[in-house]
Amino acid sequence: MNNNVCPICSSNLSVGIQVWHFRCTSCGYEKGDLQPVINELSPHNLVNESVRATGLRDIRVGNFKKLIDVISSFKPGGGKLIDVGCAHGWFLEAAMGKFETLGVEPDEAVFNVTSARGLPVRKGYFPDALKDGEMFDVIVFNDVIEHIPEIGGVLSECYERLNGGGLLVLNLPSSDGVFYKVSRLFCRVEKFGYFERLWQKDLPSPHVHYFNSKNLSELLTKNNFATIKTGTLPTLGLAGLYSRISCAGNLGAFSKAIIYCAVAASLPVLRLLPSDIVYVVAKKA
Ligand SMILES: [Zn+2]
Repeated sequence: MNNNVCPICSSNLSVGIQVWHFRCTSCGYEKGDLQPVINELSPHNLVNESVRATGLRDIRVGNFKKLIDVISSFKPGGGKLIDVGCAHGWFLEAAMGKFETLGVEPDEAVFNVTSARGLPVRKGYFPDALKDGEMFDVIVFNDVIEHIPEIGGVLSECYERLNGGGLLVLNLPSSDGVFYKVSRLFCRVEKFGYFERLWQKDLPSPHVHYFNSKNLSELLTKNNFATIKTGTLPTLGLAGLYSRISCAGNLGAFSKAIIYCAVAASLPVLRLLPSDIVYVVAKKA
């Protein structure tokens, strides 16, 4: 992808908030020039990953169940489903029984854990990990597509691997979300840490893109998919909240407790604001 051109509307990208951040003033697409680094986790990061996983599990599993219900409403007869970058396999577990499932996961340490749990997962990247002519009825990316630099290439691979009437499902962070907007406000007073955290800067797999539901649909149209549904999923829940706060930075126990109480008390209000997680279901055009 040309560094200076929007992958959606082909406008020139403008310099954004930091030297690695770019924005399309026409469609609102945002790009991070942050390189993914996989399989280079230090032991310290692995510990953090396990705490992070615990904190995220409850909210993620709840969201996965909602997403499966949406997908099932378009595919009531089930079919072959692949979860690209299936991580711990929670989405596969939610989909089992309704779909014939397969996961692919490139991170060796994560793959080994998921595979040892007996889940149907293959090590590798999409589509390299697939067999010749292997086709699907549903292809799902949960918090994955925003990490892939050559997004147009992956979307055309999805098109090739979907049966007629097949569905592409993307679930990812939204630049319309309230937390993302607040992180941009912090940048105005030179507080860049939260913004960098949301882009996962300096983490093993940083974000490369930030979309909203509108420009995401435009990207899909450009790649021969027709959006049939968009929606949002909750970003935060009470379950697992403390673990998530614990791994958000080097905070003392008192600070963590204060933040936990403040966030917990704000949850009913936060639910009324634009969510930071968007999903889109698109049909092969
Ligand atoms: Zn654009």
